[in-house]
Amino acid sequence: MLHADRPTTARTAGRRLASCLLALFLCAGAAPVPDAAADPGPAAHRHCDFTPAAGAGGPSPGLIVGAEVLLPEGPAPGHAVHIHEDGSISAVAPFGSVRTAHPEAGVLDCRERAVLSPGFVNPHEHPAYSYAFPDADLKPGYAHRDEWRLGINGKQRLPTPPPIRFTAGDRRSTAILVAMELRHLLGGATAIAGSGGVPGVIRNDNRRKRPGDAALYEAEADVSTFPFSLHVVEDLRDECAGGPAHRFPPAPGRSPAFMAYVPHVGEGRRSSCAARAEVARYLARVQRRDRRYAMVHGVATDRDDYAVMRASDVTLVWSPRSNLALYGETVDIAGALEERVRIALSTDWSPSGSFNMREEIKCARRVTRDAGVAASGEALWRMATSNGAYALGLEDRIGAIGPGLLADLLLVRHDGGDPHEAVLTATDQDILAAWIHGRVILLADTLDARLGDQACVTLAGIAPQVCGVLGPAGLPVETFADDIEDAVPLTDVSRQAPCAMPSH
Ligand SMILES: [Zn+2]
Repeated sequence: MLHADRPTTARTAGRRLASCLLALFLCAGAAPVPDAAADPGPAAHRHCDFTPAAGAGGPSPGLIVGAEVLLPEGPAPGHAVHIHEDGSISAVAPFGSVRTAHPEAGVLDCRERAVLSPGFVNPHEHPAYSYAFPDADLKPGYAHRDEWRLGINGKQRLPTPPPIRFTAGDRRSTAILVAMELRHLLGGATAIAGSGGVPGVIRNDNRRKRPGDAALYEAEADVSTFPFSLHVVEDLRDECAGGPAHRFPPAPGRSPAFMAYVPHVGEGRRSSCAARAEVARYLARVQRRDRRYAMVHGVATDRDDYAVMRASDVTLVWSPRSNLALYGETVDIAGALEERVRIALSTDWSPSGSFNMREEIKCARRVTRDAGVAASGEALWRMATSNGAYALGLEDRIGAIGPGLLADLLLVRHDGGDPHEAVLTATDQDILAAWIHGRVILLADTLDARLGDQACVTLAGIAPQVCGVLGPAGLPVETFADDIEDAVPLTDVSRQAPCAMPSH
């Protein structure tokens, strides 16, 4: 039953059509023509057939989704998953056998018209800050992150935007955080790791430290920002001038080893002594092999480091856009790929990184191509899904489609061609549905409204409806656009930092 606190009405549908037509007018020639341009009626562009669950009051029926399913071992056309009502995937098999095994389940049959992928896993974000646009003074002239954070070595300090923390009942901050998470979801991600966020939209992962954290962070990983100190360049000044080696004090409040450790390391140019020294210390530590380790950024790494990372099972969490925007260089991606380091893509944050995972993938594609090691669609898809989950130590829960894994799924239109590419390049217009923990959050209005078990609303300028988010967060649809007016928008990426090598 659809709750009726704000159902889609003819009025909201009309508003949406008006905004689509406006967007079409503004973007003519630059964007694919949305269906609304010459609407041939619902049947002509219907991508899926829906059959509701049989009967009521029996055992929990769940939902079968038939599509080309992207499995770890490869694409499986004509397959289906069964989403259990507990939010997990209980079966993956050819469509007919899943139906036979779950005869009571509802069926969404999108075979030959859609691809079903795990949602992207973004293992490195700063959700509390990721509403802000790049600073007007952002230039790729920094040798180490301390230079822009602290304004040392004669470099201009970049102001850090004030963090937005979730405060129940505060409408504006809640709206900005909801928009940040919806933006990532519309870019294909169903999970982000980092400090902050809002409960009930995207899956958030981080270490739980404060009361209330358990409600926000569904799983734990230690994504502590800086493992050594907050002023590494200063601490290492003597060492880098040829003096004795500096000893960093042990980090207070170390996290237990069951959590993956995912810190910023070597965030600076290869020519930065401090950045190189961070890498050397971290790679000495990972050889203990006492927990899952990842390295965020690692711009100052070289081929010898990649060999150690490969041998020690360290995932490189790569944010090429943010690296290029701040440092004018990124990792030696040819070296990393040739040494077969596991690489996960992440956005970093909106002040210097990609506004969503789709944009990060685009940047990674360009950088690998320019380095002469063009990554395939399938390789990029793994960097954006299972490798991100592995970096966080959560590969037994998210980042892939398989029995027992959580149903964090993205269903996108597919009218032929490479199915991985369909997922990597899907815009909001291509998204048919997105589930997190088996719950529909995004739903195309060409799909049956009964798939959304909570109220779905239409937001100006985005294609799929948003289900079960605004109402529970206490956000009226009428004020949402105004509340997020100054934040990074849901789908417009025109103001993100460029993905480009500086031309010096
Ligand atoms: Zn970062």
